[in-house]
Amino acid sequence: MAGNGETNGAARGEADSARIGVLALQGDFKEHAEILKKLGVEPVEVRTLEDLTGLAGLIVPGGESTTIGKMMVSSGLLDGVRSFFYKGGPVWGTCAGMVLAASATTGERQPLLGLMNALVERNGFGRQVHSFEADIDVEGFEEPFTGVFIRAPFFEDVGPGVEVLSRIEDRVVAARGENILVTAFHPELTDDVRFHEYFLREVCGL
Ligand code: GLN
Repeated sequence: MAGNGETNGAARGEADSARIGVLALQGDFKEHAEILKKLGVEPVEVRTLEDLTGLAGLIVPGGESTTIGKMMVSSGLLDGVRSFFYKGGPVWGTCAGMVLAASATTGERQPLLGLMNALVERNGFGRQVHSFEADIDVEGFEEPFTGVFIRAPFFEDVGPGVEVLSRIEDRVVAARGENILVTAFHPELTDDVRFHEYFLREVCGL
């Protein structure tokens, strides 16, 4: 608890006082916030650069990655989140957030954060299959996780520094780097909090 004091600085190792941001421009940020509350951390809806101050981590939720990306450009948050990340700030992207985290897409150009050395295929599971559930094996999890996939992306290729946590056939649906986690599915739409716990413990160090 050293350094807790009166400041609201990065809260690594201080789970009680941790504030975790959820990018709240578009998409299902409320569901993430609810789970964070259940786990005893304070969710912060992030809409401006100032909102990034003092966060112990940031979730980029599902939604529409083109819309979120454009709004991040106009609000300055595209550069703001990059800077948060490059200073070591932990980031978790779910679904559209995973698209935004990638460095390149197989599809049309769109604003990307480029936090992860990976090529993403948006809507990668086919147009017909808009949504499905699948029990997936995840590195480090003892039991399979039921992933809810909604027009989900996958990583086609990953580069150095990216650890694959789960695949469906040869498609990467969960991965991590030193201070980043991505999932192609929506853990915030299930009662299973293991990915939120994983993010807080393994990526944020709380
Ligand atoms: N297909 C959407 C996109 O590429 C993501 C869908 C989702 O977040 N559920 O932005």
